Amino acid sequence: MTGILEFVAPSDAFGEKLAQASDDFGHIVTSRPMSVLTPRSPAEIQDILALAGPRGLPVSARGGGYALYGQGQVDGGCVIDMGALNEVRCLPGERVLVAGAGALWSDVVRAALAEGLTPPVLPDHLGGSVGGVLTTGGFGGSSHRYGLVADQVRELDVVTGTGEAVTCSHDRNRGLFHAVLAGLGQCALIVRATLRLVPAPPLVRRYRLYYDDPAAYVADQRALSHDDRFSHVSGQARPAIGGSWDHVIEAVAPHSGRLALDDARLIGDLAHDPDTQEIEDLSYGEYVCRLDRDERILRVTGEWNRPHPWLTLLLPEEAVASFVPAVLADGPQQGLRTCGAVQLRPLTGATLRAPLLRRPAGEHLCLLSLMRTALPQDPEGVRRLVAANQEVYERTRTLGGVMHPSSALPMSPDDWRVHFGDAFDALAGAKVRYDPHGILTRGYGLWR
Ligand SMILES: Cc1cc2nc3c(=O)[nH]c(=O)nc-3n(C[C@H](O)[C@H](O)[C@H](O)COP(=O)(O)OP(=O)(O)OC[C@H]3O[C@@H](n4cnc5c(N)ncnc54)[C@H](O)[C@@H]3O)c2cc1C
Repeated sequence: MTGILEFVAPSDAFGEKLAQASDDFGHIVTSRPMSVLTPRSPAEIQDILALAGPRGLPVSARGGGYALYGQGQVDGGCVIDMGALNEVRCLPGERVLVAGAGALWSDVVRAALAEGLTPPVLPDHLGGSVGGVLTTGGFGGSSHRYGLVADQVRELDVVTGTGEAVTCSHDRNRGLFHAVLAGLGQCALIVRATLRLVPAPPLVRRYRLYYDDPAAYVADQRALSHDDRFSHVSGQARPAIGGSWDHVIEAVAPHSGRLALDDARLIGDLAHDPDTQEIEDLSYGEYVCRLDRDERILRVTGEWNRPHPWLTLLLPEEAVASFVPAVLADGPQQGLRTCGAVQLRPLTGATLRAPLLRRPAGEHLCLLSLMRTALPQDPEGVRRLVAANQEVYERTRTLGGVMHPSSALPMSPDDWRVHFGDAFDALAGAKVRYDPHGILTRGYGLWR
């Protein structure tokens, strides 16, 4: 317990930490915590939670700060800055990596690639923390084959809402393991994760294939996500002349550099426009860090620091060809034509294993992210975009779709109950057992 006083001692950086913890990447919701603590060990997190629980002091962890709607904030409570728990090491001779929950995915990639290895699924953006991404599930370009980033976890070390340190996995404390992966930080804070690794290819060949017919795009994306031609498949809708939208598939094949890849076999049967296709060889490291350049540009233009009323949805694939063009034609979505991006990611139902990751029924799914940037000096405009998110979400539900919790979307406890559906009772039971004081991660607003 001796460390606690050190955590709260004011320092020059303290005001800055409070300001940071009052905000997130969304820049829509702000709430000021009473304190920001930076524990140096899991034992110090145990101390904080053991102290906070009986006092009813709300606590949230903060990793990369990429939440969009205050999910990691805690008004008048305590934010635990996970940044010091960032050790990453590969276990010698094993295809396994152990990462502190505050490590960023860029740290994980660096350590794994140094051994010629990689996690089978990585988020596209590597600036989030290990803990933050595992609590939402984590999608990446290879999710159609291997599922969530969270599905690659072998073991977790967590601290529950009562301050108890527990190691959990499929074979050990399975109920808690399942309550933590994609569990929105409700039952425990993750302090360390053991991740499965696979050999990393030295090179990849990236194909960018352009479509002006949404139905042809959906059909090809579906075909590619159900055969083994490509290790990574994702897509985007892009603004086209005349107010319509074109689509692009980005498909990636591993490449040793020794044997030539057969482009005709890989893309010869697809319905894209062959005159505009782009083919490029990259090192695997360059590929997984591909968003670094975009981030640098958006930081320079200032867009990175603007409000981000993003919405991410999981849809039954059959809804995509009609629903996505209809949504993109809505008035409030027109800003996406100039400021933001529309991502479409094919997913396969059976590969998504974490029970708390909610998804539509069926095997053929698609993740839709409407990632728009708003003007900072127009809070009313931001409110309108959040309201538009609610309206799109309602329409999604009528199609059997669900939201993904890293969205700028107000959700009431009743909405969450509907969201979790038949998993709600298990989550509520785990909450009572592992966080009986109800102090953890209130920013989602799951409970009354
Ligand atoms: C630019 C950008 C790109 C993105 N790209 C992807 C992507 O490719 N794939 C994808 O799946 N998602 C993506 N996301 C969503 C992102 O992964 C999630 O929002 C994730 O939760 C962010 O992690 P973080 O460390 O930044 O979390 P924070 O904002 O720090 O926290 C997010 C939530 O996780 C909780 N949390 C953080 N650490 C812990 C912990 N150790 N234990 C328990 N709870 C914890 C927080 O309290 C909060 O509720 C992206 C988001 C942005 C803004």
